[in-house]
Amino acid sequence: MSICTRRCPFCHADVELGNYILGDILECPDCGSELEVRDPNKVDLKELTREHEGFNPSWVDLSCNPTLVPAPSEKEDWGE
Ligand SMILES: [Zn+2]
Repeated sequence: MSICTRRCPFCHADVELGNYILGDILECPDCGSELEVRDPNKVDLKELTREHEGFNPSWVDLSCNPTLVPAPSEKEDWGE
């Protein structure tokens, strides 16, 4: 098991993926932004840029799988 880290697309801090899997939502330990673990092949940076202000698309590392993108804001499937 390897510890992989990704960059937060909002603040560029290192975020440990740990045991997170695709589709999980985690919180950046630095800026508190909600991030989604996503298959980089299914990331539409243009759409993300439209939906989220304040994140840097160039910090989304599409060469790493999985990668971190801003979590979708409209559907909050947190449960309780
Ligand atoms: Zn952050």
